[in-house]
Amino acid sequence: MRWLLVLFGSLALQAQEALLSRPEVRQALDFIRANHDRHLDLQVKIAEIPAPTFHEGERAKFMESEFRRVGLKNVEIDGQGNVLGWRPGRTERTLVVAAHLDISFAPGVNTKVRKEGNRWYGPGLADDSRGLAALVAIAEALQAAHLATNRTLLFVANVGEEGLGDLIGVRYLFEKSPYRSRFDAFISIDGTDPARIVHGGVGVKRYRLTLRGPGGHSYGNYGRPSAIHALGEIISRLAALETPSKPKTTFNVGRVGGGTAVNAIAEESWFEVDLRSESPAELDRLELKFHEAVRAGLEAEKLRRAASGFSLQHELKLVSNRPSGQTAERSPLVQAAVWASKATGHVPSLGFGSTDANFPISLGFPAITLGGGGKSANAHSLQEWFEPAEAWKGPQTVLLTILAFDESR
Ligand SMILES: [Zn+2]
Repeated sequence: MRWLLVLFGSLALQAQEALLSRPEVRQALDFIRANHDRHLDLQVKIAEIPAPTFHEGERAKFMESEFRRVGLKNVEIDGQGNVLGWRPGRTERTLVVAAHLDISFAPGVNTKVRKEGNRWYGPGLADDSRGLAALVAIAEALQAAHLATNRTLLFVANVGEEGLGDLIGVRYLFEKSPYRSRFDAFISIDGTDPARIVHGGVGVKRYRLTLRGPGGHSYGNYGRPSAIHALGEIISRLAALETPSKPKTTFNVGRVGGGTAVNAIAEESWFEVDLRSESPAELDRLELKFHEAVRAGLEAEKLRRAASGFSLQHELKLVSNRPSGQTAERSPLVQAAVWASKATGHVPSLGFGSTDANFPISLGFPAITLGGGGKSANAHSLQEWFEPAEAWKGPQTVLLTILAFDESR
């Protein structure tokens, strides 16, 4: 059995190496490199169209026109707002290649891109305007080189990856779209590093906790329970929790609010907490501890203020639930990406992330996330930057991954 695996492994490798000597493959790779500047301009143009989660419409229309321009077939915006464009293969079995439209900024953010030396700044410029530009670059290169594939390729610019979008676009695609029975694998282009292969999804659960009480004057009604004091009590219990570093498991209270005046006992308070783990079992354990902290914090405030006869109500809402799981390292899709990343001169590294690939992975589809090229940092902040050095290697790596995977059955 082991010997057979080695044999198949080396046959696959031979087929992949042979790809690099096919003239039309060389032509597609050269096309991507030669059009680097134009794809960079496209990336900036995309980034300057605002697209906060749930407000992706304008950017979607632009991507729809790009998909048509490069010759993709049956271009449409689906029921969830995702832009779809097809490149038919010899069979209907479909590899989905996606990048997300949305940015993790509130409506009204200034999306103007500014350049300082070789570093370019703009919210969402790398995450994920680079991925969207890479989608177009790959589709264009396939067309220019008349490259035929066995699988049909579905290019998708999807909505709802960031924050409370909760993967709504890719969820729709894999749960409700009329085409889902044809899908057999998924690649998301997100982030920039062509050496990084995300093959596992970090599970994420996010809660919003709201506390409500009687309120009252801070002096006149002293002794009543306070929604803010109880919230602080709960947060301090959370802050003291210990979680394992392996499998990496984390928690964060990222937003708090409540109260109306310094001399009023708070009638209402709330926070949003983000819980994550590479391991579903650890995430469950953390979730239980979180529920326990809420219960114990409320109980402490209740006991202290029992004499007032008032109590607090609480409402706990699960606002986001991204499943965890992984695509095996040995799977043809991951192996195709490892080979492609080496072929473009990188030392590939496998890792976990929280990306659109989480959802298809949770359904059992082979799915990975690859970088769109270039260098970047500070995603999700106004200091997000992008450096275009050798950025063509991003779309080249994804293209080779697609072709190498296409050689597998
Ligand atoms: Zn992203």
